[in-house]
Amino acid sequence: MSAPKRPVPRAGVLEIDAYVPGRSEAPGAAKVFKLSSNETPLGPSPKAVEAFRAAAATLSYYPDGAATGLREAIGKSFGLDPARIVCGAGSDELLSLLAHAYLEAGDEAIYTTHGFLVYRNVTLGSGGRPMVAPEKHLTADVDAILSVVTPRTRIVFIANPNNPTGTYVPIEELRRLHAGLPANVLLVIDAAYAEYVRRNDYEAGIELVATSDNAVMLRTFSKIYGLAALRLGWMYAPAHVVDAVNRTRGPFNVNSPAMAAGVAALSDAAHVERAAAHNARWLPWLTEEIGKLGLEVTPSVANFVLIHFPRERGRTARDADAFLLKRGLVLRRLEPYKLPDALRMTVGTEEANRLAVASLKDFLNGAGRG
Ligand SMILES: *Cc1c(COP(=O)(O)O)cnc(C)c1O
Repeated sequence: MSAPKRPVPRAGVLEIDAYVPGRSEAPGAAKVFKLSSNETPLGPSPKAVEAFRAAAATLSYYPDGAATGLREAIGKSFGLDPARIVCGAGSDELLSLLAHAYLEAGDEAIYTTHGFLVYRNVTLGSGGRPMVAPEKHLTADVDAILSVVTPRTRIVFIANPNNPTGTYVPIEELRRLHAGLPANVLLVIDAAYAEYVRRNDYEAGIELVATSDNAVMLRTFSKIYGLAALRLGWMYAPAHVVDAVNRTRGPFNVNSPAMAAGVAALSDAAHVERAAAHNARWLPWLTEEIGKLGLEVTPSVANFVLIHFPRERGRTARDADAFLLKRGLVLRRLEPYKLPDALRMTVGTEEANRLAVASLKDFLNGAGRG
């Protein structure tokens, strides 16, 4: 066999469909409401913005590669040992680091049918094989996941709650999943939306991680903390996983303005509470009002709703998306998630939410046709 004439990436790389982020523009609309990436309508804490600005004074210095101050602040806020925390440039980076550290070529990583697509991409990028477990009612199904496990399985990725469906797995089910996995399989619990969930049977997974050797929990500053632009996430993990990830991550993977903003954001619990309360008011309102229009909405515990459209000409998800866009409402199309008949809408400001319902009503009444 002759050598290739140019560098060739590993086999899985070209199987990756590059992640398509939510759009942010609505050409021609007077005012744009970006409801496509689950960002908070309240923005970050003013304290975080102030800390970010203050960090401009020290841009010539490398950041603290150990993220000591931020890990201590997280430890204090969540009652965790800072030694068991690793910070990343978004939880996306931590997902990559985990895949790179734990997958050999041909190893399998499991996610569910409508699971977060980054799981598939980091698996392929590491030479692993993505294995898809079917869902039930757009919800991860523990038995289905366990039935996909083989001797080659090394990671199970689960977003809880899941994006883009908004559904969740109760903590008892998550424990049952963990109990059913072989000891050498890492359970990655991605709890990006944990702060929004108001259900008695939900837990982000801290206790599971604290009491086992093969579970990690990922959290992010991108959602309720409103710091998506800064790329800041963290992982709570067993000491041996912390060790493995610390060996492979970049020495300065998290920048100092982001860390400063993160510490300040954690100190402003009232701001997080306001964002959670806003969501607790508008998530059920949107679910109900959109439901009243005759559209099915998947019950969500996160900060977004999944809206299903009929396949009828003029009334499809694609038609609705085009109609809403003209009114400045930018939602998320879900073809890559195998949900072509649905749109995902982030809970927005009161103005955005009311405009969305009114616009959907006009759309269904035929204002978009003819
Ligand atoms: C938004 C989101 C994240 C956060 O990613 P960051 O890289 O921290 O911005 C992680 N997981 C899921 C399922 C998400 O929807």
